[in-house]
Amino acid sequence: MISFQKVTKIYNAKTVALEDVSFDIKKGEFVSVIGKSGAGKTTLLKLLIAEERPTSGKVLFENYNIHKIKDSHLYRHRRCIGTIFQDYRLLPSKTVYENVAYVMEVMGAANSDITRDVPQVLDIVGLLDKKENFPQELSGGEKQRVAIARALIHRPKLIAADEPAGNLDPYNTREIIRLLVKINQMGTTVLLSTHNKEVINSLRERVLTIEDGKLIRDEERGRFML
Ligand code: ADP
Repeated sequence: MISFQKVTKIYNAKTVALEDVSFDIKKGEFVSVIGKSGAGKTTLLKLLIAEERPTSGKVLFENYNIHKIKDSHLYRHRRCIGTIFQDYRLLPSKTVYENVAYVMEVMGAANSDITRDVPQVLDIVGLLDKKENFPQELSGGEKQRVAIARALIHRPKLIAADEPAGNLDPYNTREIIRLLVKINQMGTTVLLSTHNKEVINSLRERVLTIEDGKLIRDEERGRFML
């Protein structure tokens, strides 16, 4: 599904963020990317959603080269990937329901589709009872669950989560990771970047370790070993 082929990313002709990185991810996998701050994890995700271009090498998504997609078609590619960030990125003046419905509205979805799909994804993340609440009335874990619901609304092939539990306490961290595992079990491929040792050691899934922009380890049942 995803193939990084000898990918190097150099910012401003001087900062090497990724160096000669190659790996493949199959449909249905749950893959974590670990590394210290500045290792290159976010850059890797940005290459995947075409927010950055590789300096050299190729990134393929379902066999097409992401960086050859025309700008006018990029939205289609991005819709295949649900992204989740550490800082939630919710709209403060909209309710939980409206935050999720909004992404469908801007795409011109029919009202009947919105009223069918939004409750469905809110149910998956366990937030139906909070649908009328505003973001400031939610805990950090609940805000992140809204962000996950929003990421799910296009039925993405891949969920790419960049430190999704970075601002959460251990209880909410476990809840968010459990939710990502559930989404993975429902058939969506998950790529998770984290530097949380407990998360990695409890998952026992594949782990890619990045150090100073280089992929130094790729293990099927990884443990945290930085
Ligand atoms: P991580 O997500 O693992 O913390 P990043 O991918 O954000 O790592 O950063 C990798 C390296 O690239 C760091 O040295 C960072 O300072 C640098 N970097 C990231 N984004 C940019 C940018 N837009 N311009 C210049 N340097 C950047």
